[in-house]
Amino acid sequence: MSSLRTAATAKDAADPLAPLRDRFHVDDGEVYLDGNSLGALPRSVPDRLAEVVGHEWGRLRIRSWTESGWWEAPQRVGDRIAPLLGAAPGTTVVADSTSVNVFKAVVGGVRLAAARDPRRNEVLVDESTFPTDGYIAQSAAELTGCALRVLPAGEIPDALTPRTAVALVNHVDYRSGELRDLPGITAAVRAAGALSLWDLCHSGGALPVGLAEHGVDLAVGCTYKYLNGGPGAPAYLYVAPEHQADFRSPLPGWNSHRDPFGMAPEFTPAEGALRGRVGTPDILSLLALDAALDVWDEPAAEITAIREKSLALTDFFVHCVREYLPKALADGSVRNLTPERHDRRGSQIALRCPDALALTAELQRRGVVVDHRPPDVLRFGFTPLYTRFADAERAAKTLAEALGEA
Ligand SMILES: *Cc1c(COP(=O)(O)O)cnc(C)c1O
Repeated sequence: MSSLRTAATAKDAADPLAPLRDRFHVDDGEVYLDGNSLGALPRSVPDRLAEVVGHEWGRLRIRSWTESGWWEAPQRVGDRIAPLLGAAPGTTVVADSTSVNVFKAVVGGVRLAAARDPRRNEVLVDESTFPTDGYIAQSAAELTGCALRVLPAGEIPDALTPRTAVALVNHVDYRSGELRDLPGITAAVRAAGALSLWDLCHSGGALPVGLAEHGVDLAVGCTYKYLNGGPGAPAYLYVAPEHQADFRSPLPGWNSHRDPFGMAPEFTPAEGALRGRVGTPDILSLLALDAALDVWDEPAAEITAIREKSLALTDFFVHCVREYLPKALADGSVRNLTPERHDRRGSQIALRCPDALALTAELQRRGVVVDHRPPDVLRFGFTPLYTRFADAERAAKTLAEALGEA
C-alpha cells in the first residue's frame, strides 16, 4: 500500500465525522466528489417521502395542510437551516429556487436602500458570479431603475459610493472555490449605507457563515448541494431582523400575505421572513429536504467540525495531487486555482487541466465522479458528512493515472 493510502486510512480511522457516512446512500466502489452540485441521498429521505406520499397525500389529502404541518413547512424548515448559517429563528424561509430568491432579494434590497435615500440607484455584482445571479441582477437593476456595475469581489469595498444600493456577492466562487471575505465586505457595505446580499450556495452546510454575527442584510442559497435536499429542492431566503418590517418582495403572492385564507383584495405582508414566500410550496421537495436535514441533529454534525474536516480533506487532496502529479504541476499542464489559505478556501478544489471535459468522462469511467466547468476546470467537491480521506487519495491517484503520470 502506498504511504498516502496508509495516511488516508489512518485519517479516516481518526475522523469523528466518519460514522455519519452511513447516513447516506453512497457506493463504496465509487468516489463521489460532486456533492457541490448534487448532494448524495440521505437514508432518512426515502421512507419519509413514502410516508408523505402514501399517508399524508394519499390518505389525509387536503387535511395535511393543517394536520401534517404542510402550511408552516417553509418557515419550520427555514428554522432548521438558520442555525447552520448563524441566523436567528424566523429569519430564513424556504421557498422557490435560488434564482427566484436572488430576484426577490435584489429588488427588495434596492427598495430598502432607496427608502433610506432615493439617490441610491446602483447595484454591484461580483464579476465571476454564478451566471444566474448576474442575469437576474441585470434584470432586477433595470426594473428598479438602477445601474449594474460588475467588478471583482475584492474591489467592492473600494467601489462603494453614496449611490450604491445593494452589493450581491457569491460567498464561495463556484468555479475557483475561492472563499470571499464575508465579514470584511459586509462591514464595508454597511459602513457605506448600502445593503449586502450574499449567495451562500457553496457555503451553506459547508462552513460557518455567521450571518447575524457579521451583520449581513440579505442572503440566498440552495439546499441541494451541501444540504443534500435532493434535485431541485427549494432554496432559502434570509432577511435580517432589522429589515423584516420593511422588506418588500417584488413577488407578493397569497402565501406572502398576513392572512392568506382571508382572501382579501388588498395586500398586507406577513410578519418577518414569511413574506418571502410566494405561492403554494412544493411540498414533496420541501419535505424531502426536511428529512435530509435530520443528519444535522447528530451532535457530531457541528458546523465548525464540518469546516475542520473540509479543510483537512482539501489540504490532503492537494498534498496527494502534489505527490502523484509532480510533472504535470511542474510543467503547468495542471494548476490548482483554489487558494491555499484556509480563510480563502471553500469546500472544493478546482484544478485547471488539459482536455477537462474528456478528462471528466475518463475519471467517471474509472469510478471518480467530479464535474467540469468551461473551459478547462475540473471541480473536486468535498462533503465532510460523507467524503472520506481515502476518496481524496483515490481521486488524486486516478487523476494521475488518467493523465498518464502514475
Ligand atoms: C448552484 C447555484 C445556483 C443555482 O440556482 P438555481 O436557481 O437553484 O438553479 C445559484 N447560485 C450559485 C452561486 C450556485 O452555485
